[in-house]
Amino acid sequence: TEMLLEVENLKKYFNVGKHSLKAVDNVSFSVRRGETLGLVGESGSGKSTLGRTIVGLNEATGGKMVFEGRDVSTLSKKEKRKYNRIVQMIFQDPHASLNPRMKVGDIIAEGMDAHKLASGKERMHRIFSLLERVGLQGDHAKRYPHEFSGGQRQRIGIARALAVEPKFIVADEPISALDVSIQAQVINLMEDLQREMGLTFLFIAHDLGMVKHISDRIGVMYLGSFMELADSGDLFSEPLHPYTQALLSAIPAPTVSREKQERIILKGDPPSPISPPSGCRFRTRCPHAMEVCAAAVPEWKEIRPQHWTACHLY
Ligand code: SF4
Ligand code: MG
Repeated sequence: TEMLLEVENLKKYFNVGKHSLKAVDNVSFSVRRGETLGLVGESGSGKSTLGRTIVGLNEATGGKMVFEGRDVSTLSKKEKRKYNRIVQMIFQDPHASLNPRMKVGDIIAEGMDAHKLASGKERMHRIFSLLERVGLQGDHAKRYPHEFSGGQRQRIGIARALAVEPKFIVADEPISALDVSIQAQVINLMEDLQREMGLTFLFIAHDLGMVKHISDRIGVMYLGSFMELADSGDLFSEPLHPYTQALLSAIPAPTVSREKQERIILKGDPPSPISPPSGCRFRTRCPHAMEVCAAAVPEWKEIRPQHWTACHLY
């Protein structure tokens, strides 16, 4: 199948006191083999929760994930172990995600050891070649994470993910914590690795500018739901959803060429995900909100070929 991962009506709710926080609510999309799907949203939009649910760090509250044609919830224990190996995550903060008391070589090999992929000389050899593959030196294996810069630590995080021979990598804001000058290097590295190893990425970021160049398609999340999903080019040239239009209008002109470069200022802050607005979640900030927007949740629809949105305007 062309689709590596199909997500159907996925939900992840958390109990907060007597309330239910709907961090991810009824999300449906697919990831094609070999593509990079960018996922954009403000903090609290549920994008990290969605990523963590896909890799199995969270248990879904409802819905379905189908990976390589198989419903993940029906996998045997052995198959689930394999799923946990071939679906990996790279984290936002390369400092917090690397154990400061472990040598870099052992950090990289942790998953390899857990899945018994290599031992002895072969293990050492793999650690060295992974370090070199991500642009570091083999003898860095003997050092500790604090001896490296933020960009180098993110490279170590990437090597750790690669060590278990993954197919699909969820990268949760992998460049947000890095200096702007380093961001492009890490993006280039990820693109090279994707080409060479046939990897598929879900690339999470908080703004559209960051995912523009690496993404084949882009999804936009707001308060736990998808607002829009389209090919990168289409999303930038013909955004359908008022939220996407507002996000795009905030990007400086040279990055996006548009007829009229008018900044759309959204009113207010995002509401709490514990008590989201009725109907369309975006309606309290939408410049186009109508009566129907409060009454009914807009359907997730394919408005043009491969261009999905949830909005009563369409
Ligand atoms: Fe705006 Fe209504 Fe569309 Fe929501 S459904 S984005 S409130 S026009
Ligand atoms: Mg996050």
